[in-house]
This record gives sequence, C-alpha cells and structure tokens, in this order.
Amino acid sequence: MSQTALNPFEIAQQQLDQAAKLLKLDEGTHQTLRNPMRELTVNLPVRMDDGKVKVFRGFRVQYNDARGATKGGIRFHPDETIDTVRALGAWMTWKTAVVDIPLGGGKGGVICNPKEMSAGELERLSRAYIRQIGRILGEKMDCPAPDVYTNAQIMAWMMDEYYWMNGQNEFGMITGKPLELGGSLGRSDATARGGVYCVREAAREIGIDLNNACYAIQGFGNAGQHAAILHQELLGKGKLLAVSDSRGGIYSKDGLDPAAIVAHKQKTKKVSGFPGAKDISNEELLTLEVDILYPAALEQAIHKGNAAEVKAKLICELANGPTTPEADKILSGKGTFVIPDFLANAGGVTVSYFEMVQNHYNYHWDLDTVYERLNQKMTSAFGTVYQTMTARKSDKIDMRTAAYLVAVDRVAKAMKLRGWT
Ligand code: NAD
Repeated sequence: MSQTALNPFEIAQQQLDQAAKLLKLDEGTHQTLRNPMRELTVNLPVRMDDGKVKVFRGFRVQYNDARGATKGGIRFHPDETIDTVRALGAWMTWKTAVVDIPLGGGKGGVICNPKEMSAGELERLSRAYIRQIGRILGEKMDCPAPDVYTNAQIMAWMMDEYYWMNGQNEFGMITGKPLELGGSLGRSDATARGGVYCVREAAREIGIDLNNACYAIQGFGNAGQHAAILHQELLGKGKLLAVSDSRGGIYSKDGLDPAAIVAHKQKTKKVSGFPGAKDISNEELLTLEVDILYPAALEQAIHKGNAAEVKAKLICELANGPTTPEADKILSGKGTFVIPDFLANAGGVTVSYFEMVQNHYNYHWDLDTVYERLNQKMTSAFGTVYQTMTARKSDKIDMRTAAYLVAVDRVAKAMKLRGWT
C-alpha cells in the first residue's frame, strides 16, 4: 500500500464522477449514486476463550439495489473501516452491472484479526454478526458472501444462525457455502477463472503471445493461488516468474510450479523460503519485467510512487482497488492495458449468482455447466467494455472508464425506470 493511503471511498467517488461527466448524468442520478442507499453499524459482544466479553464493531452497506438485491462479501480484517466497506459496496454495484446479472451491490465487514482468534471465537463472532444484520438480509434483499479472511465454513455458520432466527432453511441468503449446504460447484476458483478468461480476451486484442508470456502474482490467497494455477491450465505454457504474500515474495527466472508453491504455503504459511527460488520484496514483485501482472492482495498496491516502474504490459486486477487514480493516469499514459477490478474479478459474484439461482430451484448444476456459463458471461462483459473503449476513441478513455460507462449507465437506467430519479 502507498505511504499515504488514500481514502478508498473517495477514490470510488472520483471514478464515478468521471463516468457521470462522460455519460452526462443528471445531477439527481449522479448524487444518488455517489453514496450508499443504506448502511448499518453494529456492536458485537463476543465471549472469548478466556471467558471475557470482547466487543467488535461491524458494518453492512447496501450501496444500491435498483437492479436487484444487494450482493457483496464480508471481510474480517483489523484495518476495516466504514469507508472501505462503502467503496467495496460501490464497486460491487458496478461489478454486478458490468456482467449484467440481476443484482445490486453491497458489502460487509468486521474489525477483527482472525489470525489471532480460535475457531470457536470466529464462530461466535460470525453468529453475533448475523444476529445483528440478519434483519436486513435475505435472497430478495441482501445476500453476503466470503471475502478477505472469511470462507465457506464462516458462511455455513452465518446461514445456520439465520436459520435459527427465521425458522426456515433459506440457502440463497448467503453464497460461497460448502457444497454440502447448497454451495455451487466452481465457486472456489471462480474469481481467478473469470480473471484468466479476461486475460485471454485482452491478450488477443493487444497481441500478447500467451505461450511465451511470463506472469507474476501479488497476493497468494484464494484469488492469487487459483490464478497461478489456472493461468497455466487455461492459457498455455506461460511462465510464472514470481508470487508474494503479506510476508514477502519469491522469484525464479526459470519459472515456478504453482501447485508446489501452494503446497509449500499450506505447510509453512508463507511463500518465502520456497526451495530453488530467490526471496524478493513485494515492491520488487510489482516492478518485475513480466508480460502480465495479477495484483491479488489488497487496495492501493500500485500507487504514484511505483506506477512508473511497473513493466507489465497487461494488468489483471483480481484485487479490489489495487490501483490508485494517480497510478491509473501513469499506467494509461505509458500504454499499460489494465483490466479493471470490477470486471477482472467479477467471476466470483457471477458464480455466487449461479449459486443463488441453483438454491432457488433447489437443484445443482454440474461443473461444466458452471464453467460454460461463466465463460459466456465474462467473455461477453469483456467484449462490451472493450467495444465501449474503442468506440470512444476521441475521448481517449481506458478500460476502467469504459467499464464504468457500461455499469453506471445500466444502474442509472434502472433507477430512472423505477422512477427514483
Ligand atoms: P485472501 O485473504 O485469501 O488472500 C489475500 C492474500 O494477500 C494473502 O495471501 C495475503 O498474505 C496477501 N497479502 C496481504 N497483503 C499483502 C501485501 N502487501 N503484499 C502481498 N500480498 C499481500 O483474499 P482473497 O479472497 O484472495 O482476496 C484478495 C483480493 O481479491 C481482495 O482485494 C478481494 O477483495 C479480492 N476479491 C476476492 C474475491 C474472491 O472470490 N476471493 C472476489 C472478488 C475480489
């Protein structure tokens, strides 16, 4: 993250403002979209293993539901703030719109450090959070999912708490659940898979030979690990040169074996120290000589201080908000092709939506059906955004602005049709 971290919500608002100007949005619509429609802050008393009660603070933001129920993950993180949740809620709104699924955008978070909590403490915290926000959830109102430091087990506890509150199994009230409890096949790697499909499309447009391309991944959690593997599985013989996590990175000019790093990380809890690779810093990873860079950690990894040094030709933003607006200008100025976050990482919410559909019908799709429908959605969304960018040649817009134009226009039209603005 940059030395002086910017407020992520201000970044989200600045990005919207630029799109509103190009779309010539009327003032009422623009102002409605600049802020969340609803937000809830909650205090969560949780009995810890030492017998004492600790009070955690949580948030749920329902940013905009003009196109359908709000949808967005729950993050457990020590640095969580209401403004991060607002920004992520805005990006979810644009994400569901850009892939054209009938949902709105929201987000949730709890300020906590899951790395220092036992499984029992995490379960009690998860249940306490749902007891507080459950009154505004439901498949037709607001449907959460996993995000940073939350997972399928946490979704199962949350769904179960909702069941005790309401007296019925409503599996579609939350997604990213275990398969045994109504989860969808293909959900766990959907975010990375969707990003890799976008890379395939972008490489064709800008002329990158994927068989000879090398790539690096910043952040080696859910999104990053799957991207490392799927890039090779789906796109050919590209070489993975480097990966990193919060404790540092590794590099090998001869290429790294993604599956072996996953096994090493599972064993040692870090990527550094991987046999045969050189340890590097996170900063070094971002500025390596690679064709494709996948930022898959947290916000503001690429900022005005390092953007000029980024050498990748193509950036696939699996993380939310990894590039600051100042960095965006620098990258766009030197012709770097950026697949913006809310398009690049929309595969996760797309399969979450498929999970809601399957829950609604009380039926399961097979894996091939999920992959095929995800491929269709991502390819079509990428195509629409790319065409919007090329059609606006005289405005010299980049892919992020084009994605905003597509998404904001769809949400604005829904609000108008409903008579909101
Ligand atoms: P995760 O918690 O599984 O992984 C995050 C990874 O980033 C970890 O390996 C962590 O060590 C690493 N990290 C943290 N700080 C770092 C730093 N400074 N440098 C390098 N690595 C660092 O989370 P995730 O689910 O993989 O999510 C990663 C990003 O992708 C987030 O921005 C999230 O919002 C976004 N995202 C995830 C999904 C999903 O389905 N998982 C969907 C959409 C967007």
